[in-house]
Amino acid sequence: MQDCIFCKIVSGDIPNYTVYEDSQTLAFLDIDPRTKGHTVVIPKVHAETIFDLNEEFLKALLPAVQRTTEKLETTLSPDGYNIGWNHGKAGGQAVPHLHVHIMPRWEGDGGSNMHGIVHNPGEMNVEDVAALFV
Ligand code: AMP
Ligand code: ZN
Repeated sequence: MQDCIFCKIVSGDIPNYTVYEDSQTLAFLDIDPRTKGHTVVIPKVHAETIFDLNEEFLKALLPAVQRTTEKLETTLSPDGYNIGWNHGKAGGQAVPHLHVHIMPRWEGDGGSNMHGIVHNPGEMNVEDVAALFV
């Protein structure tokens, strides 16, 4: 996609610090890292969210996340990771090209975990929410 910053990274129009690459995916260091080695993994085709990505690239994405994390593990030896993505405006997504964040974590680094993103479960109890799926 013409105006997409991550498509421009895939095409080579914008430089990146590559951590891992294969024919369908690219992983590169985040330009504004939250932790040392903060990396994003993207499919090489434009897709705004997981709803938009075709199955072929979807199947390639998780193995790429594993291989990228392995590279971070051997290179930086962190104590743990947060791995996930922001989906949509309400989810905090700024770049409209699906990307999986891998944030290496260290004991005592002062950060939080996934539960720290939001704590606002609303008025319905879990049983009532579960009934909506039946
Ligand atoms: P998100 O809020 O999930 O959309 O995150 C977008 C991420 O892309 C942010 O962490 C940015 O720092 C990162 N980012 C934006 N432009 C670049 C770039 N040119 N190279 C590497 N990372 C970038
Ligand atoms: Zn794109």
